[in-house]
Amino acid sequence: MKAWQVRSHGGLEALETVDLPEPKPGPMQVKVRVQAVGLNHLDIWVRKGVPGHKFPLPMVPGCDIAGQIVEFGPGSESALKNSGLVVGSDVILNPGNSCGHCEACLSGLDPLCREYGMPGETQDGGCAEFFIARVANLIARPKNLSASQAASLPIPFITAWSMLVRKAQVKPGEVVLIQAGGSGVSIAAIQIAKLFGSIVITTVGSDEKIAKAQALGADHVINYRKERFREALKKILPAYGKKGCDIVIDHVGADTMNESIKSLTWGGRLATCGATSGADVTLDLKAIFFKNISIFGTTMGSKADFIRIVDLVAQGKLKPVVDSELPMSDLRKAHERVESRAIFGKVVVTQ
Ligand code: ZN
Repeated sequence: MKAWQVRSHGGLEALETVDLPEPKPGPMQVKVRVQAVGLNHLDIWVRKGVPGHKFPLPMVPGCDIAGQIVEFGPGSESALKNSGLVVGSDVILNPGNSCGHCEACLSGLDPLCREYGMPGETQDGGCAEFFIARVANLIARPKNLSASQAASLPIPFITAWSMLVRKAQVKPGEVVLIQAGGSGVSIAAIQIAKLFGSIVITTVGSDEKIAKAQALGADHVINYRKERFREALKKILPAYGKKGCDIVIDHVGADTMNESIKSLTWGGRLATCGATSGADVTLDLKAIFFKNISIFGTTMGSKADFIRIVDLVAQGKLKPVVDSELPMSDLRKAHERVESRAIFGKVVVTQ
């Protein structure tokens, strides 16, 4: 089968097309014909490499996968008999792989499983004609979603749900600041925070993204290139009787982290799931302990939460946002697009 592979880290040229043997599904696995793969910053890190971290190369990239079941491995058909999934069913793949029987897995904390891994990060991913999936990770694709919309859900929505619902425990009426409102995880966070009845403030880097963020439900949108967001907050917060935000979602990292922490009210919570502008930050601990601030680190989340998310998407209460759709043969262009700050939503490759 045709596939993309990263054999050594580098620029766009590190993405190479290769011919690989067509995979066979093993016990409790199914073979999926890949229809769409949503790209994440993870894909950029896997391609470029991360200092101090070793990815198992060569590797087929691509984590967020939508496709069609084409073959059952031994035991899979009976394992799925109550799910309605058959050969020919359209599916979305829950991206985390874990052992399924340790304390972490059984507590719904699968990212803490010692065996936790992800396609396109710890094993071959979806930028290929076919992908072998575990039966535990198959979710029927809702009828109101295209394959591209489905592939734009997993990492951003699971991550945003973990930060807001599991970790920060967002409540109705709370003020939530979401940095980088055009990114996939923030687009998910804006919608989830609104679903829980909070007041959402988000930052964007261009005026054209303001209306898009408002359309998702954001109550206030700050163009951080025109006005420092902390200055803008001073004008917004008094209307809610607040001097600081209850929750801040920050995956920008070095460029914003200190200002994000200063934006919190007493007892405020900050959740971080990434550091696209850099991970080295100097923190003033006084600002954290005096104000009883909590900081939550998050990677991925619970498989059960993603089932809930897909239900809410099927009901139209959460919406995937696709920035652009390119053929999988243009994966290099798709990576370029992810790295540009011009996007609003997910870049998806299809075949
Ligand atoms: Zn486990």
